[in-house]
Amino acid sequence: MTWGILDKHAHKEAGSVRTSDIHILLCDFAKLPWIPTAVVAAYNMLGTMQRDSHRPVRLRETKIEARPGTPLLRPMAALATRELPAPTSDQAYCDVSALECGFIEIPLLWVIDTAEEGDKSVLPVLAFLIRHSTNGDVLLFDLGVRKDMENLPTMYHGRINGMGFLTTVPEDAVDALAKGGLAPTDVTTVCYSHLHYDHIGDSRPYTNATFVVGAAARPLVEHGWPEDPKSLFPQDLLPEGRTRFLDNPGMWPPLGPFPHALDVYGDGSLYIVDAPGHMLGHINLLARTSADGGWIFLAGDSAHDRRLLTGEAGIPNHGLLGCAHGDKVATAEHIVRMRALEVEYPRVRVLLAHDVPWYDANKGGLAFWPGTIPSL
Ligand SMILES: [Zn+2]
Ligand SMILES: [Zn+2]
Repeated sequence: MTWGILDKHAHKEAGSVRTSDIHILLCDFAKLPWIPTAVVAAYNMLGTMQRDSHRPVRLRETKIEARPGTPLLRPMAALATRELPAPTSDQAYCDVSALECGFIEIPLLWVIDTAEEGDKSVLPVLAFLIRHSTNGDVLLFDLGVRKDMENLPTMYHGRINGMGFLTTVPEDAVDALAKGGLAPTDVTTVCYSHLHYDHIGDSRPYTNATFVVGAAARPLVEHGWPEDPKSLFPQDLLPEGRTRFLDNPGMWPPLGPFPHALDVYGDGSLYIVDAPGHMLGHINLLARTSADGGWIFLAGDSAHDRRLLTGEAGIPNHGLLGCAHGDKVATAEHIVRMRALEVEYPRVRVLLAHDVPWYDANKGGLAFWPGTIPSL
């Protein structure tokens, strides 16, 4: 197998192609018939390039065999060679329930490059209740939007309006928990995918919980609002003495298609997956949902739209709205891995924090607490 790297700074051998923003793409080029098609395949795979510029691209460090008619997309199998851990004889697992915690109407062009100017989408804001089968831990993955949005850091107000976001919170995480008889004080762990306003909720009622957050986000909070009036991150978000910062994700061992994951309880029931790109410290969760090999992957904001997973759309970098991700290339690379997870692992359900099709199919149903998302 020959792996190649496309580099946006190089040019010549492949000639000009209608692409831009190509950074680092990994393809099995030996399986690709000719170079511009490789670029198209890479486009399909990562979905990160814009279609209307003429930046030249070439391949380097590759041995290319012309094989017209060879299937284009082959790298997924190469990514997904690592099995997920097999269950043990008394395997612990997690019951996962969805919580509806607000809605955000967004300009669709902010999240997918195939949208038309003026297209809007109403995104559900989902949090997840994760209950361990034996140790009694009650974990929340994200808290959604807080109801008292007037108490968000000052800068958010102008920013949300400026982006054209319309946020509504008919029910928040506390309301959603109450539907199944849980109070915030029953929650033992709050794990944040990242610290954007639609994920951090209101941390104050969770007085018995340990908060878990990517260490890379720590300085944002420690020097946050109101000390820094321009900060988007509330200084009082993470309770002192009850916060665990996830250090050195680069040292975590690989898991499935992902290079770095942490076994939360040490029993293979729940993993924190390093998910770089969207924001500093961004993480995903991979929870085992049965004792016989079912899983759910909670992707946070690694993708805001399912079409990024299927390859039907790419990540835009809108002239006015900017990019939805702090590091577009790292996000695109992570999406490739998520796509591998969805395609190559039939017993893994992949859900986004703003998963419109899944929400539309499941709203008000048994997947929402006090119900449980069925294990695959
Ligand atoms: Zn976000
Ligand atoms: Zn979000």
